[in-house]
Amino acid sequence: MKTFLRIFVLLCGVTLTAQSTYLHCGKLIDTKSGKVLIEKTIVVTGDKIISVENGYINPTNYEDVTIDLKSKTVMPGLIDMHVHIEGETSPKSYLNKYTLNDADVAFNSTNYAKVTLMSGFTTVRDLGGSGVNIALRNAINSGKIVGPRIFTAGKSLATTGGHADPTNGSSKNLMGDPGPKEGVVNGVEDAKKAVRQRYKNGADLIKITATGGVLSVAKSGQNPQFSTEEIKAICETAKDYGFHVAAHAHGDEGMQRAILGGVKTIEHGTLMSAKTMELMKKHDVYLVPTITAGKFVSDKAKIEGYYPEIIVPKALDIGPKIQDMFGRAYKAGVKIAFGTDAAVFYHGDNAKEFGYMVEAGMPAIEALQSATITNAMLLSMEDQIGQIKPNYIADIIAVNDDPITTISTMENVIFVMKNGVIYKK
Ligand SMILES: [Zn+2]
Repeated sequence: MKTFLRIFVLLCGVTLTAQSTYLHCGKLIDTKSGKVLIEKTIVVTGDKIISVENGYINPTNYEDVTIDLKSKTVMPGLIDMHVHIEGETSPKSYLNKYTLNDADVAFNSTNYAKVTLMSGFTTVRDLGGSGVNIALRNAINSGKIVGPRIFTAGKSLATTGGHADPTNGSSKNLMGDPGPKEGVVNGVEDAKKAVRQRYKNGADLIKITATGGVLSVAKSGQNPQFSTEEIKAICETAKDYGFHVAAHAHGDEGMQRAILGGVKTIEHGTLMSAKTMELMKKHDVYLVPTITAGKFVSDKAKIEGYYPEIIVPKALDIGPKIQDMFGRAYKAGVKIAFGTDAAVFYHGDNAKEFGYMVEAGMPAIEALQSATITNAMLLSMEDQIGQIKPNYIADIIAVNDDPITTISTMENVIFVMKNGVIYKK
């Protein structure tokens, strides 16, 4: 009867029973409760988790697949809230804007996307690039290339000469006067126009550079670069389109303006004062620490010629301060959203951040929760990703050891499933 049915199914070109995958998990991290569960079976059909069973359950259908992860620790796919998927650090990267076309950027970015997924990050928030990031997101969603689920800001917003002004460091004849379309805003009307332009371009959220930054060809790494009114106009307009706003900020004054203006996350937060930490809590704003990027730039700044000269003192000053600030912010009760600034360091090294967070005093389980349930909630995906639970999207990864005791195991993800498809085994 079964054979007959199968032939019938094949002839008609329809499937009566979809193939399922049974994952036998020695340890399974419940990101909601913060507990490590023992000996569980996750059943996946299509792109969804169907059930989580006690013990090791074997399939009853012969076409189903069993994956043995009995000696591994399994958890939901990780989410990084701060990457730049289009590019990557190198001593030559400052020439890229004069030498690369969009097509070059696109081909390069496919590699960064793949490396990111293979390191266990099934979802990322891309905080700014040339606009290729939007096409990359679409290509991944349509299955043309391999990569994480991307939520992208498109092009970042800055003020003239600000951290994300794309013509910083150019000669005068190339500098021009980029406006809101290119992400350079001055005043409330520009601010509204820039947000609406990003909606038109297909962005998912808005990124602003509220203060100076380390890697821009400009003098200050921390001065405030937007007025509170401009930030308010951006955040209020963003709300009309269902966007949240992420604010790059190293300096305290710019950070305070961003919080009062209505942003959802503060990126880096390097010089955050105790007063600003209280403001973060009061306004329910999350800190995205990016400790890995801070350590990387301060290391590379010691190599002559790696960065343009104007960047070196900023990298040496700001880079090493992030981890210490993170430790204080965590202890003060500031909410933490895992994020790394990958591209400033090499894509695929994102999980180093876990070790730095734990080193600064955050328990491993909370670091893992910040990269799963917290980030899922900030992306309004809390009913679909960040947990291993029936009806959730099957984004599942595994590591060799128990990260609760050995956090460095996160840097060696050995199994990756995204949308129910296995990419690494
Ligand atoms: Zn960044």
